[in-house]
Amino acid sequence: MKNNLSEEIQKAAEILSQAKSAVIFSGAGMSAESGIATFRDPGGLWDRFDPAEVGTAPGIMSLLSEGGDTIREIIREVVEAFTLARPNAGHLALAELERMGVARSVITQNIDNLHREAGSTRVFEVHGNLYRFRCLNCESKFFVDRSDFLERLGDIARGSGPLSLEGIMERVPRCSCGGVSRPDVVMFGESVQELGEAIFEAHQSDVMLILGTSGVVYPAAMVPQEARKAGAVLIEINPTEVVFASKNDVYIREKAAVALPLIVEEVKKRKKKK
Ligand SMILES: [Zn+2]
Repeated sequence: MKNNLSEEIQKAAEILSQAKSAVIFSGAGMSAESGIATFRDPGGLWDRFDPAEVGTAPGIMSLLSEGGDTIREIIREVVEAFTLARPNAGHLALAELERMGVARSVITQNIDNLHREAGSTRVFEVHGNLYRFRCLNCESKFFVDRSDFLERLGDIARGSGPLSLEGIMERVPRCSCGGVSRPDVVMFGESVQELGEAIFEAHQSDVMLILGTSGVVYPAAMVPQEARKAGAVLIEINPTEVVFASKNDVYIREKAAVALPLIVEEVKKRKKKK
């Protein structure tokens, strides 16, 4: 099995060293390796709470009307995980691939900003970004300081007494136009963001590197299929299961944080020889 793994890593490195326009598609598994538990796993948030209930605006309103204990518990968990989360070796290796001129862009289902923090610059976030807000008045978007925002959320989670919508809104940053803003993340039932751009990127790709995604969340999961239609080779890295790769592709049963640095080292060696 060990032999097999290194063989697949060599294969992936060979393909990437010849790629002109590799596009990365990452999912929850990538964040899990940075300590953000995949919400769908046993014990995860969506295992204990029904996302159709707590992941929608009406659901949140109804939980607030009950005093907000559930919301507090969810916020506390999210704040803890996101405060500790840092880009892992996989994120850093992907940023390196961009600097080497191999990777064209990153399409991610994750909202944690870790690809940007690692140094990737062309990032399309189909489920939004937790540290970006959208003004409900003028529609403009703005980033907030990560630690400042998490501290504000933490205040809400630690507070006592009933939690109100007003109480939450007071802590949400205002737009420069004075308008009220909301986190620019896609909630359940809302449409995904930048899907057109993501599909355009998929069509431009000659290799698609697929990392830690279960392929169950549509329409984002159609991105690898669009890449394949455009003729891209798929390289899938997933420690638990193969979802997209078929026999002409490469599948690496390993964590992204383990496999990607090895692959990037191999790509560098090949580039030097040329
Ligand atoms: Zn505004």
